Amino acid sequence: MRTKNSQTIYVSEPYRANSGAWAVNISRALFDESSHFRGALVATLDPEYFLGSMKQLLYADDVFVTLIHSSGQTYVSSQQSMTAVHAAVSRADGLLQRHRESGQGEVSVAMEEDPDATADGRLISVASTVGLTDVGTDGDFVAVAGRSQRLVLAHWTRNASVLALMFGFLMVASGVALHFYQRWARQVRAQVQEAAQELVQLAYHDPLTDAFNRRAFLTSLNQEFERTHRYSSPCCLLMLDLDHFKAVNDRYGHDCGDLVLKHVVERLQSHLRAVDTLGRLGGEEFAVLLPSTQRSAAVELAERLRSMVEQSVLLLPVTEGAGQPFSITISIGVTTLLPGEAGETVGEVLKRVDQAMYNAKASGRNRVCWA
Ligand code: GH3
Ligand code: MG
Ligand code: MG
Repeated sequence: MRTKNSQTIYVSEPYRANSGAWAVNISRALFDESSHFRGALVATLDPEYFLGSMKQLLYADDVFVTLIHSSGQTYVSSQQSMTAVHAAVSRADGLLQRHRESGQGEVSVAMEEDPDATADGRLISVASTVGLTDVGTDGDFVAVAGRSQRLVLAHWTRNASVLALMFGFLMVASGVALHFYQRWARQVRAQVQEAAQELVQLAYHDPLTDAFNRRAFLTSLNQEFERTHRYSSPCCLLMLDLDHFKAVNDRYGHDCGDLVLKHVVERLQSHLRAVDTLGRLGGEEFAVLLPSTQRSAAVELAERLRSMVEQSVLLLPVTEGAGQPFSITISIGVTTLLPGEAGETVGEVLKRVDQAMYNAKASGRNRVCWA
């Protein structure tokens, strides 16, 4: 009994009763009309009474609830080892301290480091003053409840981990898929390109000799014909035919005839410029288009080609063990695409050069004739 005041209810600090349990006494002094002290009413609060209500708040294993006397001493705790919570809320900057300093009896919330340094890390706690509001008391209690932040966030953390895992997997999977898709697309592009090149090759080239085929050669000839007439630039045309080629087939076989055709084309190509066009018009008949070439130069070149073919020797695989030395000759007709010659057609040019070639044949073969 600290003062004699009949209006105040005195709340003692928690003390250990004879039974071993922690108890708190509340008392009130009694006076008569003459203000003489007549006695005191003393009641002991049973911690079990509070514990029953507090346990209703324990909705998860890690929830703790504790009642702390205004002296800072723990009175009732939902858990046996309340020293940690007590220490946490009693620290100078702790929740209990701040709650009291705020002067609000209402709820205060705080996130505190777990002073017990358990694995839980941080505690999320709420504090609220519990007291008799309609009468004066010299002490009250603060109820503190809380739980581990780690466990509160455990569900979210688990979901976030699963999501992160799924996201990571999707990233890796899409990266791998993209890699394979790009590789596949590259292969398809390469195949398409290859097929296109093959198509061009088939469309413009003779499959046996790789010279331009008749259609491609005539297209070039028409273009050069236009150019010659527009710019009056000199241009010549040669027509070549292998001499007595039928006899080659008859004597050595068609396959050897093919080899001879390929050999002659290779020899001709090696003596032509990049701007010249060699075409196979059919069978063993070829034509060469010589842009920007004067008549004298064309005749000179034709003579060089004729002599070169005559002198080149090919080994035909006709006998067992050793090749058969073989050479062939060609007859060549030469003409020019007459610049400025009004009304002349490509057909007429072809006819003229064909006539020149026929003249070469008629005059003994293996020679060059000019039209
Ligand atoms: P000429 O000197 O008058 O030109 O006589 P030639 O025997 O060369 O002419 P001809 O027109 O009588 O015979 C041409 C031969 O060319 C007939 C044909 O079988 C042969 N020939 C045509 N195309 C090919 C081919 O692609 N491969 C082979 N091996 N022979 C071919
Ligand atoms: Mg011939
Ligand atoms: Mg012929």
